[in-house]
Amino acid sequence: MKNKSYRIHHKRPPQKTGDYQSIEETLKKLKKAEPPWSDYRERSLKIHGLICAKCGREFDENTRHLLTVHHKGGNHLNNPPDGSNWENLCVYCHDDEHTRELLGKYLSEGKE
Ligand SMILES: [Zn+2]
Ligand SMILES: [Zn+2]
Repeated sequence: MKNKSYRIHHKRPPQKTGDYQSIEETLKKLKKAEPPWSDYRERSLKIHGLICAKCGREFDENTRHLLTVHHKGGNHLNNPPDGSNWENLCVYCHDDEHTRELLGKYLSEGKE
């Protein structure tokens, strides 16, 4: 005889009371604090404007997510508040930039 029925509990809806909420709140805060780049991104966009530094494509509030911040020095931890290490690049140019970086590295390292 199969006696599986005891394993099938009716699914309870997630409780939004007590400890659960505080855990969720804590997780939300952690998630919010996690990406420091979201902060410098906004700053870079403000300093340099919604325009790609490479192809000159302009962006607006609806397309700004396609504009990314590139670190000129390649060091993501170097974030001077004056924006001197940042460059606003559209996703296409940014991709291109890094592809060439990797390729250059690959080529120079490959010679040895
Ligand atoms: Zn571009
Ligand atoms: Zn980059």
